[in-house]
Amino acid sequence: MSEKIKKMPKSPVLMSELDQMVLPQVLKISPYVPGKPVSELQRELGVQQVVKLASNENPLGCSPRATAAIQNSLSELGRYPDGSAYYLKQALSEHLGRPADEILVGNGSNEVLELVARAFATVGDEVIYSQYAFIVYALSTQVVGATGVEVPAKAYGHDLMAMAEAVTERTKIIYLANPNNPTGTFFERAEWEAFLQAVPQNVLIVLDEAYYEYVAEMAEVDGFSGMDYLDDYPNLIVTRTFSKAYGLAALRVGYLVAHPQIVDYLNRIREPFNVNHLALVAAESALQDQAFVTKSAQVNREGKVVLEAFLQRYHIPYIPSAGNFITIEVGEQAAEINEALLSHGVIVRPVSNYGLKHYLRVSIGTAAEMQKFLSAFREVLLAFGVITPLEESSDESE
Ligand SMILES: *Cc1c(COP(=O)(O)O)cnc(C)c1O
Repeated sequence: MSEKIKKMPKSPVLMSELDQMVLPQVLKISPYVPGKPVSELQRELGVQQVVKLASNENPLGCSPRATAAIQNSLSELGRYPDGSAYYLKQALSEHLGRPADEILVGNGSNEVLELVARAFATVGDEVIYSQYAFIVYALSTQVVGATGVEVPAKAYGHDLMAMAEAVTERTKIIYLANPNNPTGTFFERAEWEAFLQAVPQNVLIVLDEAYYEYVAEMAEVDGFSGMDYLDDYPNLIVTRTFSKAYGLAALRVGYLVAHPQIVDYLNRIREPFNVNHLALVAAESALQDQAFVTKSAQVNREGKVVLEAFLQRYHIPYIPSAGNFITIEVGEQAAEINEALLSHGVIVRPVSNYGLKHYLRVSIGTAAEMQKFLSAFREVLLAFGVITPLEESSDESE
């Protein structure tokens, strides 16, 4: 630390007073742990070559149209952004075939997920989500002081019928992710339709489709979008993001589609300028480049095949995923294996905060990144005795 920076004197009295002053629901929250940034590992290891497969980002980056739009907007940084996101909403409206007044744009879909909890739930209310579900649902519930009801997962995925049965008179919101992160599990149309019918109309259903673009490209699953059900279920809210397949995670832009009255309520509590100008123009241009999205999904599919082949060859258990990542069961030494991978310059994601202590989540990278990862992974797993050379040679001779 530089000498100019003085630390605040520690006062134990004040610190215990702060514990009394802060809202009890805030005191209970354990902070979100993000994936380790590439620059941090580069600093620690003193190396440049780092492979980051930790935050389900797009390994291709984003569409060149998005970067061009940003470059063309650099002269406009002195002005506030368009708080109504007019042009992006028009573009989304065209793209989705939904009216613009059903769309709310947020600072990442994280923001729109949280806005729903802030507008519709408070102390005494219940919010339902699945075991192993994306952590933002629990955080959004906690911050408004509502009671989170975590429904046990079924084969790591959402047990939709059990979730519908968990509804009480106090239930305000049910959060679902399809596919879910960190498990990659996916539910199909028939199960979804039965769930929609079972949930009372006075409970909001938030369907998080952050990985929708990857599923849309999978021929083998009966994929569907919640968008198709908005007209029949005014209590349904569908969220999507530009952070994953569109490759704009750094800019923070996502959106939800819902009944205009819901959108109106949420607009009352969002910050007036919640999405920055560069994010708005980049997202609008990225939307016009669907070929980039298709290519991203294809690179993802190819990388996933390579990773699955490796896991099957070494008999390493994993959760089959419909997203751009696979959560792998590496055993009791998952934390140590993660550390060893870091020292090889590979960043993956521990998921012990999700109650998946023996697992590591690996995002799908480019072919070159997957090769680097697999060679480090193989070496580390051999060193930890998770796989054996014997097994390897006998499998290789198959
Ligand atoms: C990554 C992710 C998001 C997207 O978050 P942003 O705030 O839009 O970057 C939302 N939901 C799930 C399940 C995710 O994995």
